[in-house]
Amino acid sequence: STPSKRILVTGGAGFIGSAVARHLINDTEHSVLVLDKLTYAGNLDSLQPIVSHSRYSFVQADILDAATMREVFASYRPDIVMHLAAESHVDRSIDGPGEFIQTNVVGTYTLLQAALAHWQGLSGQDKEAFRFHHISTDEVFGSLGREGYFTESTAYDPRSPYSASKAASDHLVRAWHHTFGLPVVVSNCSNNYGPYHFPEKLIPLVILNALEGKPLPVYGDGSNVRDWLYVEDHARALALIALTGQVGESYNVGGHNEKTNLEVVQAICTILDEVAPDAKIGARQNLITFVRDRPGHDQRYAIDPAKIGRDLGWAPQETFETGLAKTVRWYLENRPWWERIRSGVYRGERLGQVA
Ligand code: NAD
Repeated sequence: STPSKRILVTGGAGFIGSAVARHLINDTEHSVLVLDKLTYAGNLDSLQPIVSHSRYSFVQADILDAATMREVFASYRPDIVMHLAAESHVDRSIDGPGEFIQTNVVGTYTLLQAALAHWQGLSGQDKEAFRFHHISTDEVFGSLGREGYFTESTAYDPRSPYSASKAASDHLVRAWHHTFGLPVVVSNCSNNYGPYHFPEKLIPLVILNALEGKPLPVYGDGSNVRDWLYVEDHARALALIALTGQVGESYNVGGHNEKTNLEVVQAICTILDEVAPDAKIGARQNLITFVRDRPGHDQRYAIDPAKIGRDLGWAPQETFETGLAKTVRWYLENRPWWERIRSGVYRGERLGQVA
């Protein structure tokens, strides 16, 4: 068995980061320090299931704060960094790209510098075993036509301010490996969905609007294709990559679940009509409302996950159907988590959609 490691999870109060922290605490012997600025997207309620565990700790900090980053490395002395802190919503990157350049590009640079200084001070086995795992997106590869898949060797071709900022951060991470020797590993994942997903993204937005009989916004004609991955499958993949991935390599993570946006929305309507019928609302398909397309909307993303299956033995446990049913059930059973968000921070903002 692997000895217990200290893992620093940046962005650990976010959607995927909190799934990683819950997985590491609940299913492994490793220790976790969640570092998060707690922006609108960060939510300590998502860490509530592990908050009293002795192997879990939390620090509120901004990855742009170099002095604090150095202090965190000096005091926690992580064996592994899993870097998920980012601005993550494409629509917000169109309305205001500045924050994305700051956090995703300059923030990753700042964290890399702190990690490098820490790593350079290590020796022997500790230095050998240290890992900086950068978590990224398949959106860095651009948009696909009907055919083909993104592999680890697909050329970068980002098209939105969000994906361009993530591509820049991926390049910085690889440069810190090639130039300074920092032991890094990178992963690029398709669209995640599941419990604790902030209700500005397509799936939770549609679940909650459909539940309440509100319009279900679909961009353009709804034909854009995304490759969906259940967040807990992703969290297991990320832990495997951080702990056993090859230094300098990158891994694509996906579940071979390509769906058009319209198919996703219809599937949610069908599930809700069955598990939460409401005579006043009627058939929820009728709530679907087509809205003006997002500028530069990528047509199709699809991941070839063969490498992580072959090299690290990962496979998803959920199909889109089982994962979506679990997700809908979670939103029905965890009203306080999303009611707090819907009633406050998010109300009044325009209806966003998924990356
Ligand atoms: P999220 O927006 O839910 O969470 C991001 C977290 O980072 C939040 O808790 C936020 O408070 C924190 N954060 C933001 N700026 C920070 C800063 N300056 N300092 C410290 N913390 C800060 O995002 P997510 O969906 O969980 O995505 C996590 C990572 O995975 C991101 O890097 C994203 O690019 C990547 N990713 C996401 C998806 C997806 O479908 N959600 C797919 C592929 C890759």
